[in-house]
Amino acid sequence: MKKTKFNGKPLIFLDNAATSQKPQSVIDTVKEFYESYNSNIHRGIYHIAEKATEKYGETRKIVANFINAKNNSEIIFTSGTTEAINLVAFSWGNQNLRKGDNIITTISEHHSNFVPWQQLAKRKKAQFLVSPVTKEGAIDQTSLIKLISKKTKLVAIPFASNVLGNIHPVRTIIQKIKNKNPKVRVLIDGAQAAPHLKINVRSIDCDFFAFSGHKMLGPSGTGVLYARQEILESMPPFITGGHMIKNVDTQKATFNDLPWKFEAGTQNVAGVIGLGAAINYLNRISMKKVRKYLEDLTEYALAQLNTIPGITIYGIANPKKRVSTFAFNIKGVHSHDLAQVLGDNNICIRAGHHCAIPLHHFLGITDSARASFYIYNTKQEVDELKIRIVQAKKLIAG
Ligand code: PMP
Repeated sequence: MKKTKFNGKPLIFLDNAATSQKPQSVIDTVKEFYESYNSNIHRGIYHIAEKATEKYGETRKIVANFINAKNNSEIIFTSGTTEAINLVAFSWGNQNLRKGDNIITTISEHHSNFVPWQQLAKRKKAQFLVSPVTKEGAIDQTSLIKLISKKTKLVAIPFASNVLGNIHPVRTIIQKIKNKNPKVRVLIDGAQAAPHLKINVRSIDCDFFAFSGHKMLGPSGTGVLYARQEILESMPPFITGGHMIKNVDTQKATFNDLPWKFEAGTQNVAGVIGLGAAINYLNRISMKKVRKYLEDLTEYALAQLNTIPGITIYGIANPKKRVSTFAFNIKGVHSHDLAQVLGDNNICIRAGHHCAIPLHHFLGITDSARASFYIYNTKQEVDELKIRIVQAKKLIAG
């Protein structure tokens, strides 16, 4: 991973919860695709199209193994978590939700796991129920389980929060949900968990799992929807058009098998193949080591950042129960001003609501600063961040 410089000085990239940087092997894989076998998959019967099709299919296997899916056709490529969740909301949701039913999510969601359900409920005259989180940001399991009834069709929860960093015990929560009503489908928003944790969709026992390739070293515009095969088979297509059909006549169409039924049109072939290279890169390190490294960095960052006068760090204090994402506010300093001053010092952090307005309101704030770390970040960068925050505070608040 090359260290990017800006104005001759090294850049400290701490906006990994938004998107990660890419290793050279991912950049080379994408470059190789465009330089030597750029073509559309499935359609060509010539050499380079066959190669592209094969490489694209290989990534499906790599992804299936990475999250321990039962088979490759349970993996649908999307542009990211947002598209994966919308696929479920429009295809499964339109088919299964009836007037008077309900869908449950939590107040801590990214808008991508909130708005699609809210809008689905509106379309179907169903209820959209929002479960609270505790002060530390943990899912309030008692409240969530209380909301579940015979009318509940789907529960959508995050594996890890993009603001608070909290890792939720999704396996236990899913067990409790299914104990109360075994017919409820559960979707896990894995966008912030897949880059950090070893994911096992079968052990979690979720029905849907959505995540973004671009947050875990993969190219922009890559993401995945996993769903159990029988569920995907029962679902109608989301986007219709080329390649997702078996046959078409003037009045009707029959649809292709899985997974192609859900991959209409020209796909992000280079991106998907690059995602394969990204997962290979993570596998070479091992997700266990990735987690260990980031857990240590989290512990260090929490200890260091907490020494800054006037800082409030949101989310759970225990580094073992969170990913390396820290949303915080400094007394007397607006998050945008802080991000601006840090940006002038080549430190890239995020400011604002991080696509989680309901959570910010729940916390009684309108915005926060967010620093999020990934495998190439170091303790020295934590130190530099701390020094620059203290300087920025003096500059802004006096
Ligand atoms: N869910 C969570 C928890 C996220 O952090 C994000 C990205 N910030 C998304 C969903 C949306 O992901 P994407 O932009 O890749 O669609």
